[in-house]
Amino acid sequence: MNNIKILYIYPFESYGTPFLLNSFIRISNFLNSKEKELNGLVDEKYLDLRYENLPEFIPKNLQIYRNKLRKLLKENYKKFKFNLVAISCYGGYSYINTIETANLIKKFINPKCIIVVGGPHATINPEDFQPASFPNFISEEYPQNTSPFDYLIKDEGELPFFKLVKDLLNNKINRRNSLSKNCIILEPELVSNLDDIPIIDLSLYEKYKNIIKKNNRIFLEFTRGCIFRCNFCPNSESFLDGYKTLRVKPVKKCIEELNVIKNTKWLSVKQVEISDMIFLPKKSLREQFFKELERIYQEEGGLPFQLRIETRVDTCNIEDLEIYKKFNIFLRIGLESCSKTLLYRMGKICGKNEEQIKRGINRYLMKFEEIIREANKLDLPISYYILMGLPGEDRSTIQENWDFFFQKRGDGKSLAEKYKINIRFNKYLAFSGSEVYSQAQNKYGAKIYYKNWWKIFNEKQPYYSMIVDPSKDFNFMDSLTLNFKFIKEIIKVQNALRNPFYSVFRLLSLKKQNFVNFNLYKKLMLRNTNN
Ligand code: SF4
Repeated sequence: MNNIKILYIYPFESYGTPFLLNSFIRISNFLNSKEKELNGLVDEKYLDLRYENLPEFIPKNLQIYRNKLRKLLKENYKKFKFNLVAISCYGGYSYINTIETANLIKKFINPKCIIVVGGPHATINPEDFQPASFPNFISEEYPQNTSPFDYLIKDEGELPFFKLVKDLLNNKINRRNSLSKNCIILEPELVSNLDDIPIIDLSLYEKYKNIIKKNNRIFLEFTRGCIFRCNFCPNSESFLDGYKTLRVKPVKKCIEELNVIKNTKWLSVKQVEISDMIFLPKKSLREQFFKELERIYQEEGGLPFQLRIETRVDTCNIEDLEIYKKFNIFLRIGLESCSKTLLYRMGKICGKNEEQIKRGINRYLMKFEEIIREANKLDLPISYYILMGLPGEDRSTIQENWDFFFQKRGDGKSLAEKYKINIRFNKYLAFSGSEVYSQAQNKYGAKIYYKNWWKIFNEKQPYYSMIVDPSKDFNFMDSLTLNFKFIKEIIKVQNALRNPFYSVFRLLSLKKQNFVNFNLYKKLMLRNTNN
């Protein structure tokens, strides 16, 4: 090959956020920065199937969806004769559409096109992309016992994708000689120094500028990886080294990238999400960053967008809260639970032994109270994420969590009655790749009803991923009922405090998050038991 035309495709997702993540941007930017090392021409386009006016990809629309997707890809191919397609299978919710799209391209658009898949789902479940691993509706339409995927990238994309393009241009790479052969898994390789990544250039996404404007948010990472090992997170297993290996971008470069967002003419967003698992985890880095922000505020009057960051209770520095207030930085904290037992079970706190961990948990909860008090004092609206229905949860952990918020303190008032506390309630979703997913039954007697839910082609697919009995004597419906009681009580006492966070909109979004569809859950649980 001496000319490569790359089409990056983000597939339809049955559940998830509507935002454009910048994984393809980073891959493309990195590739372009190595242009001189490439023995040929490279051209690129991006196609986001979430924004192409396609019908919802569900069984009742299957034929019409296939026709429309085929038409869309044909039109794209007419204008841009792509010979390399890269698809991001970010999570289970996009798996079904990833395999449909890849098969369709191989069968109807360009059979010679090389297709590469990557993303966390492909990294954790590479076997899902091999011949004979697809659900029936795929095998009924496309050649059986074959796979449209030629290569699979595990973990971070920049280096393996660049090497793939380079090797293809040099004709120096193993190729499958038949679609019935296994897809080739490329050697994973992380970017060890984030300074090696070129300054962000978002041009690839310009065609979706109206969507970005509507979503009002763009993502940027200052660091990659996290040193903690919570057992519901892929960090507890060994699939994603990129998640486990902490790397930090120089602050100067972080500021340069913020300036790119500010100065990109076609881009207009009100929020920049710093997608770090833990926002600048070193104090010295945060100090440097705040100093730069101060300068920007002094010299330029501030940033034209709000920064949104995430951290943990124990990595949140109380003194920083005042700075977040000053610079209008929106903070989210992955609290997970206020049950000591559950915090222990989920491995939220690190320690050499049980005693040390338990001391750490006490400090964690005290620190959380301190954050609440300080945030109230500063009128800083922090969002705290609580995880519900996690394997390991039982009646007593729910009670401990309840007591933390509602037990009367010395002054006769509970914490939730006294302070505004913005809780976001997250239902545990049974994603593969974490210790909790693989050990749910052994460790807690938990039951994940649909372990391979991502292969179920059904308009209710997201619900299948949620149905989990958290422990042996505590089933899904009981967990849902008790957790919902907690949610209602929080909303009640926070409304009495006139906390604007718990608006009608918030309640509607909780409904949308499927917390309350008890009847449907019952039906799906029964179906699983009968099978
Ligand atoms: S702190 Fe967050 S990113 Fe780190 S291991 Fe825990 S859940 Fe994962």
